[in-house]
Amino acid sequence: MAKFNPWEMACSQLDTVAQKIGLDKNIHAKLRRCKRALIVSIPIRMDNGSVEVFEGYRVQHNLERGPAKGGIRYHPDVSLDEVKALAMWMTWKCAVVGIPYGGAKGGVVCDPSKMSIYEIEKLTRRFTSEISIIIGPEKDIPAPDVNTNPQIMAWIMDTYSMNIGYSAPGVVTGKPIEIGGSEGRLTATGRGAMFVIDEALKYKKIKPSDCTVSVQGFGNVGSATAQFLRELGCKVIGVTDVSGGLFNKKGIDIPKLLEYVKSSPAKSIKGFSDGDFVSGIEKANEELFNLEVDILAPCALENQITSRNAAKIKAKIIAEGANGPTTPNADKILHDNGVMVLPDILTNAGGVTVSYFEWVQDLQSHFWRPEGIDKELKRIMTKSFADVLAIAEKEKCDMRLAAYILAVSRVATAVKLRGVYP
Ligand code: NAD
Repeated sequence: MAKFNPWEMACSQLDTVAQKIGLDKNIHAKLRRCKRALIVSIPIRMDNGSVEVFEGYRVQHNLERGPAKGGIRYHPDVSLDEVKALAMWMTWKCAVVGIPYGGAKGGVVCDPSKMSIYEIEKLTRRFTSEISIIIGPEKDIPAPDVNTNPQIMAWIMDTYSMNIGYSAPGVVTGKPIEIGGSEGRLTATGRGAMFVIDEALKYKKIKPSDCTVSVQGFGNVGSATAQFLRELGCKVIGVTDVSGGLFNKKGIDIPKLLEYVKSSPAKSIKGFSDGDFVSGIEKANEELFNLEVDILAPCALENQITSRNAAKIKAKIIAEGANGPTTPNADKILHDNGVMVLPDILTNAGGVTVSYFEWVQDLQSHFWRPEGIDKELKRIMTKSFADVLAIAEKEKCDMRLAAYILAVSRVATAVKLRGVYP
């Protein structure tokens, strides 16, 4: 079987919507390429004295609607094509929720679980220095993604600030609150996903208290999504992470699991006493996807729901916390089976939305209260859901195509207005 290529998948999603809306062929050709891609080498002196050279990327897909925005991922499977796809998806995501950014993404090929905290700090600082020629508060603003966190964002902010000679908190979002981070950013992606799911449940006339949920991935996005859905009244009966899966038909105690993961040395769900544990990531995910649930939230990585497993999924709603978890072939199967897929570019846009709030606060040096953040996030997420649903109903298409119609049309309008330079 051909190896999964996220960039090809992202382009095929764009091609589908381009055909549907009759996109101008010149604009289509432009959007099929990334504006800028920087490949950097990152030599680091490891704790044992040896020097290891890592490869990193920062890609800006499109800047027509504003400065570039997108997270930084540390993972052994990072590739240029993956970062390009994630950058393109960021362009659409910012457009769906109507925030004035273009799309970018960054990544370093590394396995942080095998590195010390000092090595991760050095890697982060050198990577920041290398990409500092294209990032900046008015140019391109990174944020957290897989295996990166507020501490790493603090090092990015500090390194960039040291190089320019003054503090520039607006260069990165997802920072700790003490150095210009925003209230609510840490859990924003999960909270935003909950608002979107809540709207979908209302649309389908399902009561949250009647809902069961399974969540793939228990990191930043997965754990917060599980937590907020539980607060909404849903019962989370299955969770997986890199260590395996946890299942409990009576409902997993998510706050306790969160505490457990935080305090466990491996920062994983393995060893939690309440529920049945299944070892082995593939077996655990298979069991998770086959669970009889109302909502399945893939919140780990791309290429998880494919033509191999889509037909077996019993969930009524799939809420994509992760970026690109469902392949186009799987999309067709799910659509035919009547599964409502809440697409990534809508469902997980809460993270970039609160990142935008953080950036605005940094630029103004004026910080909002948590209630203000949550209220504004809810307003944007529920409005975006309604906008996408209205298109889906008008065009008689699924929510992904509807979200793409909205996003690509907005970006295409910006491209047309700005014209071709020179
Ligand atoms: P994270 O590093 O905090 O967590 C990733 C989680 O997924 C971990 O629990 C890990 O153990 C688990 N995982 C990895 N591979 C897995 C597999 N094959 N099966 C099951 N679990 C697996 O990362 P995150 O920030 O939560 O990001 C998760 C996804 O959400 C990514 O697709 C990311 O691009 C997307 N996303 C993140 C944000 C954000 O604000 N952090 C915003 C929007 C989208």
